[in-house]
Amino acid sequence: MQSLKSNMVSKVTKQQSFNSSKQESLKKKRSVSPEVQEKGKAALAEWRAARAKAKALGPAAFQGWEWQEERKKALKKTTPMMAIKAFCNECLSGCRKDIKNCTAKQCSLYIYRPYQDDNDETL
Ligand code: SF4
Repeated sequence: MQSLKSNMVSKVTKQQSFNSSKQESLKKKRSVSPEVQEKGKAALAEWRAARAKAKALGPAAFQGWEWQEERKKALKKTTPMMAIKAFCNECLSGCRKDIKNCTAKQCSLYIYRPYQDDNDETL
């Protein structure tokens, strides 16, 4: 009985040490260099100062500032190819096969349209 109990305790301690070492290695992987952290802190402070300045100017100015921030985020996330893909999807209701076989050669996006190289016959 005693040996069974000690065996269980050793298993639990082994598991705990394994978990803590795993957490430490994850922390190391996720760690960011101090220079990058400083850059991030400075950028955040700058952003907060701009936000406070816009807030101080009144609700209309703050709303404008928020709109500009949203636009900046959207611009960062969207690539030209993503925009073309979205446009073509809207043009032909998202039908990949139709976009691939689009016949509108006069369209300025024709040569850039997505799914051209798709060899998937089940489109
Ligand atoms: S390339 Fe074809 S699918 Fe894309 S926007 Fe032009 S007409 Fe529409």
